[in-house]
Amino acid sequence: MMTGLIRRLGMLMALVLAIPAQAAPLAAQHVTITTLSTMLADHGIGEWGYAALVEVDGHRLLFDTGAHADVVLRNAQTLGIDLASVEDVVISHDHNDHTGGLIALRRAMMAKNPRALSHLHVATGIAETRFDAAGAADTDFAALEQAYRATGGVVIEHASAAQLAPGVWFSGPVARTHDERNFPDDVFVRQAGGLVVDPVAEDASLVIATADGTVILTGCGHAGIMNIADAAQAIDGDARLLAVVGGLHLFAKPDAVLAATAVRLKGLRYLLAAHCTGIEATWRLRGLLGLDRHSAVVAAVGSRFVWGGTGAGAGIEPGRIAG
Ligand SMILES: [Zn+2]
Ligand SMILES: [Zn+2]
Repeated sequence: MMTGLIRRLGMLMALVLAIPAQAAPLAAQHVTITTLSTMLADHGIGEWGYAALVEVDGHRLLFDTGAHADVVLRNAQTLGIDLASVEDVVISHDHNDHTGGLIALRRAMMAKNPRALSHLHVATGIAETRFDAAGAADTDFAALEQAYRATGGVVIEHASAAQLAPGVWFSGPVARTHDERNFPDDVFVRQAGGLVVDPVAEDASLVIATADGTVILTGCGHAGIMNIADAAQAIDGDARLLAVVGGLHLFAKPDAVLAATAVRLKGLRYLLAAHCTGIEATWRLRGLLGLDRHSAVVAAVGSRFVWGGTGAGAGIEPGRIAG
């Protein structure tokens, strides 16, 4: 009888031990997003393009790579940022104002660390051939992928949302529920009936969950920020938007679209609007969202969004020109 009791106690102990002590935290504790390529520059070089360094609880990744081969490289040097310890690169979509620095950055950094920028995350569809109105080939991500693989880099294609680090997700392709049509009308893809305007179906964002709400990082926002906000909410289950950082491609949009956008983004606390968001659009959104010069800012090279825990350390460090 005693033996049976001990056996049962032993089984109970084994059961207790089988339950994980503590699941890994889902939400990010500390977030820093530093602008490395955008139109405006305090330090370094401005360009029509986008790139940012994302640092979340010790994980670092490069989001987009700017337009010119050397701009992110030079801006990182100017800002004193070492990209050689960054292993993951995310490319939001195939436009060359986001892919231009990829190969030069990989080559420069792998000379210091072979694993630097060695893993490239993209969404399914990015390698589809695009054409101009005359039917000539436009951007060609397949060729870029080939050059990247030739350096020993690994390409990871995501068909749906994927967690890259605790609390950090790559959205994968974003469903277009809202008809935002937030993409150029002079780039085409080939379908059975001929050329149609390219919806940039692969356009993907980063979604970072925090205790104060979601942080969205978007390259050009071609999926539309309303759709991206919906996708982010589906990923982390949080309706609260803490920050939107990056390019929203709203520069040519009429006031009615900006008003509708503000309705969807209601409650947003920080907007670090870079690249193709547009100066006027940022100004309008600031007013419509009830934000101010400290919480809705046009990004410059070197400007940052920082979140360091509930109620502390959150905010935009705009730099001089936009401050
Ligand atoms: Zn684009
Ligand atoms: Zn762009």
